Amino acid sequence: MTALLDFNHREKKPTFADGVNVLIDHALVAEQATRPTRDYLGGSRLGDACQRRLQYEYLKVPKDEGSGFSGQTLRIFALGHVLEDLAIDWLRKAGFDLRTRNRHGEQFGFEVAGGRLQGHADGVIVAAPNGMAVPALWECKSANAKNWREIAKRGVVKAKPIYAAQIALYQAYLGLTEASALFTAINKDTCEIWHELVPFDAERAQAASDKAVRILRACDAGEQLPRHTEDPEHFQCHFCDWKARCWE
Ligand code: SF4
Repeated sequence: MTALLDFNHREKKPTFADGVNVLIDHALVAEQATRPTRDYLGGSRLGDACQRRLQYEYLKVPKDEGSGFSGQTLRIFALGHVLEDLAIDWLRKAGFDLRTRNRHGEQFGFEVAGGRLQGHADGVIVAAPNGMAVPALWECKSANAKNWREIAKRGVVKAKPIYAAQIALYQAYLGLTEASALFTAINKDTCEIWHELVPFDAERAQAASDKAVRILRACDAGEQLPRHTEDPEHFQCHFCDWKARCWE
């Protein structure tokens, strides 16, 4: 059969908006490339489902061709920082004494395993107008409407185990285990806010800490950790920057 000729086909011409956006995204990606990369395992990442991915991150294994943060992803990160600053302002206006820096002007954080595991907390609440126990760890995340609704419906522990692991680990290493942590989630689409108290879970903190030890030991020994799945089409792998390296 003769192939039909498509006389109407046209390459889509970039719009004015495309041109400006490309300039912005190139600038953001170039700026990101100048930032030093982490040379430690981040406590906020330990709840990731895949140990192998954490190992790749820690060892700074080159990402697959064409992967890495896009301009849009960098804009999403930047928006998250702005929303966190707003949440700090809102809580303070509501009467919470929320500190984000210690007396030396540094972010609250911890370093263990010779600095190879580190975490930096969003803040600590030292006084509250609603009678909640203090001092309490404060963690803030922004989420799209779907994820935010999931958090508000099921709670952070069930909806986002990666955040729950981070909270438990930070409570443990910052000595904030007596009071529940205050977790804030901001809906990026509607600006709804969600707050919940997260009691310290020693088992969860220990599991995160043990995982860090396992990853660091494997890195030292040159051993590759197992994948979290046998299915290369798993959605976690779909978004992984090392998918080609890992499976091919
Ligand atoms: S591709 Fe999947 S299994 Fe491999 S490191 Fe990434 S998340 Fe883990």
